[in-house]
Amino acid sequence: MKQNKPVFVTQPTLPPLDEFVPYLQQIWDNKILTNGGQFHQQLESALCEYLGVKYISLFTNGTIALVTALQALRVSGEVITTPYSFVATSHSLLWNGIKPVFVDIDPETLNIDPAKIEVAITPQTTAIMPVHCYGHPCDVDRIQKIADAYGLKVIYDAAHAFGVQYNGGSVLSFGDLSVLSFHATKVFNTFEGGAIVCPDAKTKLRIDHLKNFGFVDEVTVVAPGINGKMSEINAAFGLLQLKSIDEAIQKRRLIDERYRDGLANVKGIHCIPSAGGGSANYSYFPVLVGSEYPLSRDALYQKLRDNNIFARRYFYPLISNFPMYHSLPTAALSNLPVANKAANEVICLPIYTALEDDQVDSVTELIAKA
Ligand SMILES: *Cc1c(COP(=O)(O)O)cnc(C)c1O
Repeated sequence: MKQNKPVFVTQPTLPPLDEFVPYLQQIWDNKILTNGGQFHQQLESALCEYLGVKYISLFTNGTIALVTALQALRVSGEVITTPYSFVATSHSLLWNGIKPVFVDIDPETLNIDPAKIEVAITPQTTAIMPVHCYGHPCDVDRIQKIADAYGLKVIYDAAHAFGVQYNGGSVLSFGDLSVLSFHATKVFNTFEGGAIVCPDAKTKLRIDHLKNFGFVDEVTVVAPGINGKMSEINAAFGLLQLKSIDEAIQKRRLIDERYRDGLANVKGIHCIPSAGGGSANYSYFPVLVGSEYPLSRDALYQKLRDNNIFARRYFYPLISNFPMYHSLPTAALSNLPVANKAANEVICLPIYTALEDDQVDSVTELIAKA
C-alpha cells in the first residue's frame, strides 16, 4: 500500500506561526539581534529550570559547542570515544588536533562499552567523550569511576539526550560537561542551535568568553575564541518550542509503544530496548535487522523507500570507516566488531509528533510482510 505523502524519519514540530510573531515583534522593537540579548538570557534560564541543571551556555549549533567544550577543558592528546555516533562527535576532536581512540559499544544499549575503556587508555589520554546514543543514558557511574582513577575529563555528546533523566536527576549533570544539539532534526530544536551544560559559574563564564571570540569586555580578549553565539531569533523560537516539549515527548512515547507492539513478533527485527520512563525522550526509533529476517537491512531500507517511507540508517557508515579515520589503529574492524555489526543492521524508523497511527501501522505492516 503506497503512502500518498512521503514519510521522513523525522519532521520538526512547528508551533503555529502567529504564536511566533510577537517574539519577532520584540526583536524588531529592541533591535538587539544577538550577543546575549533578552531571549538568549531567558532561554538559558528556562532550560536550566526545565532540564534541572545549574548552568547552560547556548550555542549556534551542537558541533561548535563540542569543539568549544574541548577547548574549555584544554583537552589534548588522545580522547577515547565511540565510533557509533554522528560524525560530528569525532570531527570535534580532529578540529582540536586530538587523536580519537575508538572503543567498541555495548550490543544492547549501543553506547560505549565501559568494560573496554580501560585497556584503551595510554599516557596521552586526557579525556573520554561518550555519546548517550538515541538518548539512552550511558553507564555514567562506571565511566566516572574510570575517569577518576586515571585523572581524565569526561565530555558527553548529549545531542540526543534532551530532557533525559538518570536516577532521578538530569543525565546532563554527569561528567565535566555535556553538549546538546538543537538542530532541526532533534527532539527540541531552535532551527540550528546547541548548548553546553556546565557544573559551575566559573566554567560557564569561560565558555561564554570562548563562544564570543574570547572577549571579556570591549578591550580585553583572554583566549583565541570562536563565534559560537546563538542569535535572538533562534533563542526566541526555543522559548516558544519549550512550551510544548512535554506534549511532544508524550506523543513520541505513544509512537514508540505502537512500533514495539506492531513489531514484537516479527522474526529478525530487534527493537533497541528503551531506558523507559523519564530516562527516555523517544527521539529515535532504531531497530536492528538480524540474519533471521528475510531481507537484508539495505533491502528493507529500499523497500520502505519504494513505499515513500524514508527511514535512515543511523549510524551507518560507522565514523571509524570514514576516510579521515579509517587508518587509525583503533578503527580496525577487529577492534570494533559490535559497532560494525550494529551499523550494518540498524535502521531508524520515522518518529515525530505529526506522525499518524495509520502511518506507523503501514510501516510495521510493510516490515512484517517481508
Ligand atoms: C546532531 C548531532 C551532533 C551535531 O549537532 P549540530 O547541532 O547538528 O551541529 C553531534 N553529535 C550527535 C550525536 C548528533 O546527533
